[in-house]
Amino acid sequence: MEISEDQQKLLRILPGVDRVLGIIQAENEFKTIPRAVLTRHIRLIIEAFRQQILNGSQKLSEQELSGSFIVETVRRKIKKVLSPHLVPLINATGVVVHTNLGRSLLSRRAIENLTTVSGQYSNLEFDLEKGQRGSRYSAVEDILCEISGAEAALVVNNNAGAVLICLETIARQQEVVVSRGELVEIGGSFRIPDVMTKSGAILKEVGTTNRTHKHDYINAINPNTGLLLKVHTSNYSVVGFTASVSLKELVGVGAMYNLPVMEDLGSGTFIDFSNYGLMKEPTVQESVATGADVITFSGDKLLGGPQAGIIVGKKELLDKIKKNPVNRALRIDKMTLAALESTLCLYRNPQEAVQEIPTLKMLLQPVSVIEKKCNRLCQLMKDLNETAMTVNVVDVNSRAGGGSLPLLKLPSKGIGVTIKGKTSNEIEHFMRNNYPPIIGRIENDLFILDVRTVQSEELTLIECAFKTILRG
Ligand SMILES: *Cc1c(COP(=O)(O)O)cnc(C)c1O
Repeated sequence: MEISEDQQKLLRILPGVDRVLGIIQAENEFKTIPRAVLTRHIRLIIEAFRQQILNGSQKLSEQELSGSFIVETVRRKIKKVLSPHLVPLINATGVVVHTNLGRSLLSRRAIENLTTVSGQYSNLEFDLEKGQRGSRYSAVEDILCEISGAEAALVVNNNAGAVLICLETIARQQEVVVSRGELVEIGGSFRIPDVMTKSGAILKEVGTTNRTHKHDYINAINPNTGLLLKVHTSNYSVVGFTASVSLKELVGVGAMYNLPVMEDLGSGTFIDFSNYGLMKEPTVQESVATGADVITFSGDKLLGGPQAGIIVGKKELLDKIKKNPVNRALRIDKMTLAALESTLCLYRNPQEAVQEIPTLKMLLQPVSVIEKKCNRLCQLMKDLNETAMTVNVVDVNSRAGGGSLPLLKLPSKGIGVTIKGKTSNEIEHFMRNNYPPIIGRIENDLFILDVRTVQSEELTLIECAFKTILRG
């Protein structure tokens, strides 16, 4: 490639790595940062400028290539690299179990227990009574059985792992009968048929997308059938001309043909939401009572605990699953265990659980309470006395999220904000890049913050962000 005279001139202006390094290293702010870290980023930045000159993609002025401009670019870049990537943010989307925003917030008690246990030695795998090696899971197995009514329990890394290890243990190289209407895909490439393949089980689809009958299962059973599987269609709903086989009927078929029945509940809950005026969601206790042999669900969806996959069911099957070497690969760490134990303890008293577990509290929060919080935020914003900004309380619908209760629209309150001279997209972008980031949504060209998922102590942070966008 021919290098023009202009390009050669620009390349000569471009400072060398050592020169920039010398300037940066002399600055107090960067004194303690390892030379290798600085050198690496300086080299990358200078190389990027070099490429821009060579391919002429962007007209660069001599001023832009001067040492001071490049040093400033390096300063900004290094600061960004050194600040944490994972940061807390304000969820004003109204989606309670928001998979992209960290799913469930832990209860205060779970956070305290997790903090204590992670900073100190513990009896993680030590039986204090016997003075010998103990089981990592003893802390949560008992309480899971107590709450669910199951004979046995096991906890793995997440529900995807739970489904995988159950299928691998119970039905490897055997057929698993599932309704076509339940071949779920959830976000992040978890698809029942793919997990089935990975587990070595053979998928046997029965029925149609909208209708599956008991005889469809029965007709599919043959000597190589290993399991009947029911998957809770947690993130979608088939409506209209539909028919599905209840867990109870499936348990009946299992008994008739001496086959185990498994249910993947996905978003498992111990609380019957219909008692609190929400839509019915099957509870773990009901599935256990109905007689499913194995039930799997998430720890951080409707349960409101840490990321985990919980398996409850018949002791005979659970013992086999526990002995599967895959179990070791999916095991939970002590922080998960600590947070999970504390979360589960709260369920001993359901009244306490709905007050103390943020996921439940936010889901069940009455509109009147949300409205008060919303009015407070609205007043804070109005007190800024900014004529360029209009703020109004608006009616919105929150969502449960996390692939649960897909049809549920929770009436909620939010604020709609407009700013003279700024589009709703510009406001959204600014709020998202604030510290802490504030995530809202745009509806009918209006920027909206749903306060259901905003914590009280975050209201002033939102006010502050708007003060900054208005006053620079
Ligand atoms: C969410 C979900 C899973 C996966 O659970 P994770 O805890 O995210 O691994 C599996 N099955 C169903 C039906 C789900 O809804």
